[in-house]
Amino acid sequence: MMIYNMMYLQYHLGPCGGRRQTMGERKVMDCGKYPSDNNCTLRISGKEEEVMPAAIHHATTVHGHKDSPEFRKQLKSMLVDE
Ligand SMILES: [Zn+2]
Repeated sequence: MMIYNMMYLQYHLGPCGGRRQTMGERKVMDCGKYPSDNNCTLRISGKEEEVMPAAIHHATTVHGHKDSPEFRKQLKSMLVDE
């Protein structure tokens, strides 16, 4: 089950979308699994290189995190196989 929000769709509706379909590469970043002040339930899924920019964008704009190499590492560790 996939839930995308509008921001994610806008962010990813590009001409290069959906060309390559490789099984087993999809990752999920499930915000709902982690405590947040707005009870966020966003779930982002896709290939790692697709999920990461969306997750960084979400975390910085919605949750007010500061983007940094450390933070990216932390986000990356939140990705799980779909
Ligand atoms: Zn969130």
